[in-house]
Amino acid sequence: MAYTKPLPKIRPYTKEFWEAAKRGELLVQHCDDCDRNIFYPREVCPKCKGKNLKYIKATGRGKLFSFSLVEKGAPPDFKEDVPYVICMVDLDEKVRLGSMLVGYDDYWALKPNMEVEVVFHPVTEEISLPKFKPVGSDFTFPELG
Ligand SMILES: [Zn+2]
Repeated sequence: MAYTKPLPKIRPYTKEFWEAAKRGELLVQHCDDCDRNIFYPREVCPKCKGKNLKYIKATGRGKLFSFSLVEKGAPPDFKEDVPYVICMVDLDEKVRLGSMLVGYDDYWALKPNMEVEVVFHPVTEEISLPKFKPVGSDFTFPELG
């Protein structure tokens, strides 16, 4: 079945990010001007306005900063997924990323600072969405087609 939810637009400065995601690698940007990592991908550093940004490979691991169970009031495109868990993850690279949490057994056993790792959800030929699962979960998404 075709994926019908909103998709990110691939921009010249995000092409490398999405190509890596297809390979199962999570990238974050590093600003050479102020020596910080940033996320989400941008053309200009939000901290120092520098333009010397390059991609570095992230470990794909981090800690759950925050999370919430969505049971009601989901946007129309996501109603069929209810209940699902949205989350904010602090990556090892010291950037925070908003995503979905998958592959957990019991929502009520989830805890802040739990260790999580990226798992890519292939939704189109170009886009694999980074989502997160508890470290140790063997959850994977099906391949396309
Ligand atoms: Zn900077």
